[in-house]
Amino acid sequence: MAEQPKKTLGLETVEPAVTPPPAEQEPVIEKKPVSPGTTRKRDIPQGLWTKCPECEEMIFDKELEENEKVCPHCSHHFQTTAYARIASLTEPESFEEFDADMMSVDTLEFTGTAAYADKLVKHREKTGLKDAVITGIGRIGSHEVGLAVMDFNFLGGSMGSVVGEKITRIVEAATERRLPAVIISSSGGARMYEGMFSLMQLAKTSAAIAYHGRQKLPYISVLTHPTTAGVMASYASLGDLIISEPKAMIGFAGPRVIKDTTQSELPEGFQTAEFLMERGLIDAIIPRTELKKRLSEYLDYLCGNLG
Ligand SMILES: [Zn+2]
Repeated sequence: MAEQPKKTLGLETVEPAVTPPPAEQEPVIEKKPVSPGTTRKRDIPQGLWTKCPECEEMIFDKELEENEKVCPHCSHHFQTTAYARIASLTEPESFEEFDADMMSVDTLEFTGTAAYADKLVKHREKTGLKDAVITGIGRIGSHEVGLAVMDFNFLGGSMGSVVGEKITRIVEAATERRLPAVIISSSGGARMYEGMFSLMQLAKTSAAIAYHGRQKLPYISVLTHPTTAGVMASYASLGDLIISEPKAMIGFAGPRVIKDTTQSELPEGFQTAEFLMERGLIDAIIPRTELKKRLSEYLDYLCGNLG
């Protein structure tokens, strides 16, 4: 199962933060000398700006953060972090993290263009995370849920032994406590640096979800850009409800591989959330800014009979 070539996802390049261009047509006025002790206030707030890749508007970073990393002009969903999602979805102070210190080990002593051990160190430093998923129990609206949130910033959200184990454990904890499970996915697939160990996570996580479902407990899967390969082939596609953020890329193999294999032209919009919703794989497309409210409503409905 090939990991998605990162270049096709277009996510490796973080939008550079740029300062706004200076106003070019400022009228030339003789400036009076500023008297000592006074500071001139400028209209442009100090801070960093980000250019939206979709509508090309400049967005003040603070405004972007406050809007949950969704462009206020065109609703483009920027990449966000697991902790930011948890903060926006769960009730304040309600989230209790599980297995916070679980870390991947380089069992295969994998080396290639870059050694796996070095990559792990680099990504831990870059993201402040131990691995690509945060799990725990938290409250959404009035419902306690077993929650797992993946973070694409850590090695492309790839699923290795730690991601698989943490997801399995939180689903098992939800089963034991008779809680619904919510998993927010964002992943390039199985973590190839762990070889077969990463592939085993597909079966392990799927089995835990099957057992959770057999106890008549609901599981909601939320897909975000991108959710592909091994993660899509396991827990991400097993939700009783499968919802997605707008325009997320969802799929198993990459479009190039599929095109080469089937020797046919792929339809327009192939592997987008909207395309898959039309064909019944996804139940709803929900903007990030409405996700908490909608999840809370779905949980009200699904948990009506839980005792
Ligand atoms: Zn935009």
